[in-house]
Amino acid sequence: MEVSDQPSEHQFLKQKHIQYVIEQDSHKSYEYWLSEHLRMNGLYWGVTALATMDVLEANLPRGKVEEYVMSCWDSASGAFGAFPKHDGHILSTLSALQILLIYDVAMPTLDSEKRSQLTQFIVGLQQDDGSFQGDRFGEIDTRFSYTALSSLSILGELTPEIADPAIAFIMQCQNFDGSFGLVPGSESHAAQVFTCIGSLAICDLLHLLKDDTKLSNWLSERQVLPSGGFNGRPEKLPDVCYSWWVLSSLAIFGKKHWVDLPMLEKFILACQDGSDGGISDRPDNQTDIYHTCFGIAGLSLIDHRRYGFKEIDPVYCMPSETTQHFTKWKRVS
Ligand SMILES: [Zn+2]
Repeated sequence: MEVSDQPSEHQFLKQKHIQYVIEQDSHKSYEYWLSEHLRMNGLYWGVTALATMDVLEANLPRGKVEEYVMSCWDSASGAFGAFPKHDGHILSTLSALQILLIYDVAMPTLDSEKRSQLTQFIVGLQQDDGSFQGDRFGEIDTRFSYTALSSLSILGELTPEIADPAIAFIMQCQNFDGSFGLVPGSESHAAQVFTCIGSLAICDLLHLLKDDTKLSNWLSERQVLPSGGFNGRPEKLPDVCYSWWVLSSLAIFGKKHWVDLPMLEKFILACQDGSDGGISDRPDNQTDIYHTCFGIAGLSLIDHRRYGFKEIDPVYCMPSETTQHFTKWKRVS
């Protein structure tokens, strides 16, 4: 029952959020069309939010979604674009793979030719120093390393020849505080921690960190009191999306209990829009599908059972039952 416009401490507005997600596509607003370059990511955020709440198929039938994803296939690059007729990009490619995987149609939908084109596209983005660019014009960013490694892992195409230099680059991005930046020498940032730790986990090389205490301390210090929300860097305001970026990394280390989870939960719930659904970055701000997804993913990490959610995989940001659909890479040494 949702009786109050003001979410109380323990009230999650599930029905309103479902409505908010499925209505994204019918809000043909100016902002919606401006976000064309993010459309595939947006769809992934919506699909992940619904799948985590265990209400996906009833609200976003697979046929329509699968058709949209495949309409974004760019045969010139051999990858997925964000929107039909857009150039292939690594970010929309991972989102497309995740969406198909969540609906369990990745394997039937992608024939072996497309799978080998995708692999070629991704491997072709790797630079001599092991880093990845987002597309053939793109800049370098540890985010693209994660996206590439996650995509190759899903496709079953990860090899030591790709993983080892990729991880060597990532390790160069670790700073004195234990945290990670965008490129070697750049400022520590919580979202970058997720992409670097996620990459290490995907490549089965977490042991390279040796000791995660310093990093886990840095991550714990992201909790801003009295709000309970996490920020991405010291001195910044708390923001719902870091509930995911920070807590997923702590979850990978088995250290979620290093932060005050009830306080974080309270912060996420306070960022719900009581009348229209959706979750914003901070209380009373405008909601968006990105923060809605990561707010719900964060709640799943906090306590998926209490919300009746599916458990979420902290490495792949998809329901854990989805990530059973492919064989995770194990190194034989
Ligand atoms: Zn944010």
